[in-house]
Amino acid sequence: MRKLALHWQILIAILLAGIVGTLIFNVREAGGLEPKLLGVAYTSIFQYIGTIFLNALRMVIVPLVMSSIIVGVAGIGSGGNLGALGGKTLFFYAATTLAAILVGLVVINAVGPGYVNGEPARDLLALEGNTADIQSAVADKGVGDVAEIFLRMVPPNIVAAAVEGQMLGIIFFAILFGYFMTKLSHDYAEPLFKFWDAVFHVMMRMTEWIMKFAPIGVFGLVAVVIAEAGLRATGPLAVFALAVLAALAVHALITLPLLLRFVGRASPIKTLVGASKALLTAFSTASSSATLPVTMECTEKNIGVSNKISSFVLPLGATVNMNGTALYECAAAMFIAQAYGLELTFGVQFSIVAIALLTSIGVAGVPSASLVAIAIILTAIKLPIEAIGILLVFDRILDMARTSGNIWGDISCATIVARLEGEETNVAL
Ligand code: ASP
Repeated sequence: MRKLALHWQILIAILLAGIVGTLIFNVREAGGLEPKLLGVAYTSIFQYIGTIFLNALRMVIVPLVMSSIIVGVAGIGSGGNLGALGGKTLFFYAATTLAAILVGLVVINAVGPGYVNGEPARDLLALEGNTADIQSAVADKGVGDVAEIFLRMVPPNIVAAAVEGQMLGIIFFAILFGYFMTKLSHDYAEPLFKFWDAVFHVMMRMTEWIMKFAPIGVFGLVAVVIAEAGLRATGPLAVFALAVLAALAVHALITLPLLLRFVGRASPIKTLVGASKALLTAFSTASSSATLPVTMECTEKNIGVSNKISSFVLPLGATVNMNGTALYECAAAMFIAQAYGLELTFGVQFSIVAIALLTSIGVAGVPSASLVAIAIILTAIKLPIEAIGILLVFDRILDMARTSGNIWGDISCATIVARLEGEETNVAL
């Protein structure tokens, strides 16, 4: 019998997790006891399995990002067109992020989830929030304020940056390292290049192996989320969640495919199919960083972008390019501003868009990271950050969706940049 392709296995795992999670949620809600296996709650078992899988993916991140960027930059740098590739990459990252934010802005303005019968929904949402919950939700998520993002790009201690998972710092160091390798004599540069290239290949092999366990890990991760949150949906919050999903869908299914088709001269459907394993992994883990190894695998093997381009563009994108996150930040800030009855002047909306764009660059690729960025936006428009509390209800589910949006943005940009660099990929029209 032919083995089912991994992305189908993952999809089935997600659906099964949805069913099992809902069952557990219903038993709990009905006042029943926590379902257990040999005295251990099922959710704890699922959590345990999910955490092992997530840890395994995270384990390869630092060496993967270091090695792929060094190899990528050294490879391109010696050919002398690093500036051109870097410029195109950053341009598409900024352009797609801005497009995503604007979609979010338009949808939230049109739907107005923060109003009920034309009135701000402040009381209905009991906008106060538990400060302790918020503190713990935004702790260690990695953005201080907008100025700090740039400060963190230059870490005083590269080892500490690696320990703390400060990707921006690691990326900056790796870019410099790769660049200056090209300034060395051949005798020195050659062994260094071979070493980092070998590290990169080992990391990719490790990822492939870890991904064999993806269906089990994904089941654990998703089942816990559903068992804990259920699929309950009420009032303005549900409208907000649906509006965010709709906006994400517009960006993912209209904006990016149009760019792929007309700028990247690539088939959006083939690209989507090639990216599916990465998108499902992003959905299950809600972490761009943890998904990065899979993103690279899909982009190179299925879509056919060269290692030279993907190893530079994708690790950068996992941290810097977050279409879904930026869209969500803007949507969430607008929603809260509506609920507070804040007058949404051009100035306010412009601030929201600008800060969402900047902070999405600095947001770490880990679950719930955008909450910190939303706190920055709320402070800037003078609303209490406690309001973030209400977002926690749906945060995980929306995090899964926006993280897939982030990864889809990265893969689309990599495909487009590859085309602009003259590559013929497997998805070319
Ligand atoms: N979880 C997202 C990511 O890793 C970040 C966020 O929006 O919270 O891409």
